[in-house]
Amino acid sequence: MSFITSLTRSWLTRSFRAFRFTNANDRSLPYQNTENLGLYIHIPFCRSLCDFCPYCKVVYREELAKSYIATLKREIELVGADGMERKKVTTLYFGGGSPALVADEIGGIVETVGKYFEITEGIGLELHPCDVTEETLRMLHKAGVTRISIGIQSFSDEYLDVLGRGKIDYQQMFWELQSVPFETVSMDFIFALPGQTLERVKQDIDTAFANGANHIAIYPFIDFTYTKRKFEKMPEAVKKKLLADITEYCDQQGYVRDSIWTFAKPSVKKYSSMTRENFLGFGCSATTLLMDQFKINTFSIPDYIKQVENGLLPTALTLKFTPRQRMLYYLFWTAYTTKVDASAFKQFFGEKLTHCYGFELLLARMLGFAKKDGDCYTMTPKGAYFYHYYENYYTLSYIDQMWNLMRVNAFPEELIIR
Ligand code: SF4
Repeated sequence: MSFITSLTRSWLTRSFRAFRFTNANDRSLPYQNTENLGLYIHIPFCRSLCDFCPYCKVVYREELAKSYIATLKREIELVGADGMERKKVTTLYFGGGSPALVADEIGGIVETVGKYFEITEGIGLELHPCDVTEETLRMLHKAGVTRISIGIQSFSDEYLDVLGRGKIDYQQMFWELQSVPFETVSMDFIFALPGQTLERVKQDIDTAFANGANHIAIYPFIDFTYTKRKFEKMPEAVKKKLLADITEYCDQQGYVRDSIWTFAKPSVKKYSSMTRENFLGFGCSATTLLMDQFKINTFSIPDYIKQVENGLLPTALTLKFTPRQRMLYYLFWTAYTTKVDASAFKQFFGEKLTHCYGFELLLARMLGFAKKDGDCYTMTPKGAYFYHYYENYYTLSYIDQMWNLMRVNAFPEELIIR
């Protein structure tokens, strides 16, 4: 597996140089001149922990949550104070964990963010289905949240059990959901569960769109080495067919594919928590992506608090990009939207996409992975499948390796990913 990712990395970065993350801890971040900057805030608290979940999270404790939120505001102040003036950003996204568990604190956090950043395209937030109550939704709406993303995973009791989640009263959730309007209501699902057929996925999709969702995300089950799995993995060929069938079904229903795994009603504004050219991340395990670097904060909540209390950024590892590494990173995440716009690439890097990756683009077109439409390269369903397949490799080779280390070491010396 790592052979495939190493080969691809060497080929596309035109270098055998591995990704080398060090414990360099820059006091200030050069974000002031970046365009299309997004913000991410990580809230690592959950009511209980689900077996399949790879993210950085702990069980909610009020006292810990209070001191975490105070620290989070301090981190925002530390980074924000670097700016000469209030910086325009696209979106602010709260992920976790279950950020809605601290719904009463979201307004205060948004206020702190607002001192330094002007949000132009709305605020998104993830919710566990049990947090979808009228009271919580009202608090979020009042705080300025415009997009909610509910982690349903499945409407079926059988699959909730497989994933290590208890039963959920979805009828109650649908009813509560009607009480407060949001611009985007997204519901997240996992597919490739044992014995899952298209019919069962269709039931989830139809139920979501019939009960308040105008956007859905359907992610494949990813088997991280450190999460629990109590079932056999779906064979790749079956998964490939299922993904193709889901895509076709959504297309027939008139839903627009706005990224590899997301589909929306046509009137919905484009929405993804994953695709930003640049972003600043706050909170434990949050990542930051800028022109010259990628950095990740410590996963340890006590160390996060201690570090920020000492006036330092909670950065655990930093990768300083070579120009080609940055291009690869840009293309990987832009391709997630199923489109790569050559003029946006030129604007971002000052170089023509065809000069840098002309051969690869030609090959992608010849193999039927992409088609060219004006200045834009769009992935075909075949290309989308292979991207999805490669993304799975990438997740297991890179993200799994990094998160596995970060879970046990608050501030590692270095990490080399080949
Ligand atoms: S899936 Fe959601 S609720 Fe479950 S442990 Fe992960 S973040 Fe928490």
